[in-house]
Amino acid sequence: MLSHTLYYYLKPVVPRRVQIAVRRAVVRHQLRRYREVWPIDERAAAPPEGWEGWPDGKKFALVLTHDVEGPRGLANCRPLMEMEKDLGFRSSFNFVAEEYPVPMELLHQMRDQGFEVGLHGLSHDGNMFRSRRAFEEQAVRINRYLKEWGATGFRAPSMYHDLEWLSDLDISYDSSTFDTDPFEPQPDALCTIFPRWIPGRDGRKGYVELPYTLPQDFTLFILLQERGIDIWKRKLDWIAERGGMALLITHPDYMSFSECGKHADQYPARLYREFLDHVRSEYYDHCWPAQPGQVGEFWPKDIGRVASGSPTRVWPERTPGRVLAADEKRRHVLFIVENQSVPYDRRVWAEARSAKEMDLDVTVICPTNERARVRYESIEGIEIFRYPELAGTSGRSGIAFEYLHAFFWQTLLSWKVYLRKPFQIVHGANPPDDVFLLAAFFRLLGSRFVYDQHDLSPELYLTKYPGRRGLLYRVLLLLERFSCRTAHAVVTANDSYRRITGDRHGISQEKIFVVRNDPDLNEFRKIQRPNAGGHTGPTELLYVGSINPQDGVDVLVETLSCLVNHLGERDFRCRVVGGGEHLDAVRHRANQLGLLGFLDFVGVIRDRGIVLERICAADICVEPAPDNELNRYSTFIKVMEYMAAGKPVVAFDLPETRFSARGAALLVPPGDIGAFASAIKRLIHDFGLRQRLGEAGLERTGTDLKWDTANRNMKRAYKSIMKQETKRK
Ligand SMILES: [Zn+2]
Repeated sequence: MLSHTLYYYLKPVVPRRVQIAVRRAVVRHQLRRYREVWPIDERAAAPPEGWEGWPDGKKFALVLTHDVEGPRGLANCRPLMEMEKDLGFRSSFNFVAEEYPVPMELLHQMRDQGFEVGLHGLSHDGNMFRSRRAFEEQAVRINRYLKEWGATGFRAPSMYHDLEWLSDLDISYDSSTFDTDPFEPQPDALCTIFPRWIPGRDGRKGYVELPYTLPQDFTLFILLQERGIDIWKRKLDWIAERGGMALLITHPDYMSFSECGKHADQYPARLYREFLDHVRSEYYDHCWPAQPGQVGEFWPKDIGRVASGSPTRVWPERTPGRVLAADEKRRHVLFIVENQSVPYDRRVWAEARSAKEMDLDVTVICPTNERARVRYESIEGIEIFRYPELAGTSGRSGIAFEYLHAFFWQTLLSWKVYLRKPFQIVHGANPPDDVFLLAAFFRLLGSRFVYDQHDLSPELYLTKYPGRRGLLYRVLLLLERFSCRTAHAVVTANDSYRRITGDRHGISQEKIFVVRNDPDLNEFRKIQRPNAGGHTGPTELLYVGSINPQDGVDVLVETLSCLVNHLGERDFRCRVVGGGEHLDAVRHRANQLGLLGFLDFVGVIRDRGIVLERICAADICVEPAPDNELNRYSTFIKVMEYMAAGKPVVAFDLPETRFSARGAALLVPPGDIGAFASAIKRLIHDFGLRQRLGEAGLERTGTDLKWDTANRNMKRAYKSIMKQETKRK
């Protein structure tokens, strides 16, 4: 029951009120920063060269437009038309073509009464400009609707814009930009209160761009909670004074025509009426009340021409670190990692690079570690924010404190990142499975959540506390469930994980993407390899990885003891590269068994290149991870790396290991230390077998199991969620 309640509490359908509360906080924060350029940016006042003035010597133009977002707006169209007719105005209404049924008789009625009709995209998502191909595909349909509706004007959903691409549309004007508005998802500004001529490319005719110059109703009344229309008045005065164009967007969806029963995202329609009254009383003789189509027709070609390719300016200039206009449109993904620092978490680092390849901006939040002490760094264009690692905690309260500590820092840093540049995707890597809580906040702002399952947390717990399926275990299951259910996509490490996760939480397999921890072969190509069989002396065994309870280094020690003491094999040396909480215990045990002459605990090697060299220099690689709930279904990165280096492997016969290491390993029955030792002995003496296994590993990692495949799946996961991108204003 509790889980049910909690689930619904956290479900993506967070109350609209809460969503708005979060957006309010963000806008209020931004407001202080943009004080000098919003609502008025003085630089926008300069008239374009050759400009000769509005028709009939009017001082300025007034253009009223409405975007109808959904059924609620549709229902308010008629009262709104009545209000405007009453006061002698005729506005333009833009409809979303494929999001709700647009009643043709309403469009006819509008036109009959002197209103204008325009198109506000096909659907109200932020996808229109995602790729050139997607745009071209939509443009065909948009042109069809324009023709059907007899419309000549366009406004892109969410004010995304690419003025060059827009010339593919059969329009006389577009109105998807603004003179200044830092609160829009693509906040680059046209920085003018005059229309602009946008030349067509490839022989197309070009069109007039009409920036909106009065703040949107939603921004003013819902987000900033203004009670009156002072900001509109002040800006209108300023525009009139400078002879520009006052263009206003309001949304019938957000207007309430009855004083009672108002929704959380509505404001009284009388505020709009007040504005119209104000125009009538103050500017009756000085203003040209025009429809956007009329301005589009009137505006002389080539006046205020915007050079193709550089339609909008960087905005605002004075904020350091802001990127170019083209970059503003780029999506941004935030990775949150808790149990490892980046780039040392190989999986996250590889995923972050994939995202970068997709032309996304990538930021990572992770803890520091002994290798990465700096709190901020940028590697290969990927920004990394680190919070202080909490070392030396133990016990239940220690772990709880550690989680709180991590959560606190992740929250702080993610807001910091968000306020610098909003992200559209939160990619949370487990363990632990608590990132969904943080992601829930950003979902309210329209971000998508990718749950990246590195480990099965409940199974990980069972390996530490075998058989304890009590409260804590159930909590872990629950967290995993929330993570899966609230995620837009689940990324998991192999087919076993995919099956287990899908089955136990009822997640559709389509939502789960397998991104295996397959090695990046390019890394290995750079390593100088010793000649095959080139070294003399004892055979080199190698283990690379963590030394924690579930890793089985203790098993390795027992195996080596068996190898030496029972099988009489002494012509080898085994290196253990890595560290972990079991290192001391394992070393102590090796000492007890008199193995220190055969075993070398190298510790953690900071330099990735040296680790790879070590792998390439080994003769035989071992993976002693014992059979347990977790290991059975896990893909071991080290096994894949051993194979990519062309090394023979000895491991226990666990389902996922069998899948990965097919043909490249000697697999022995789980738990059979004698068999493990014998397999090592066999390889020490059979050089031909070593070579055959090594070649099979190279072959397998070079074809089926290369990172390229995982990389492709990772990109598929992102594409799938960008397709279903959240609707926004
Ligand atoms: Zn809209």
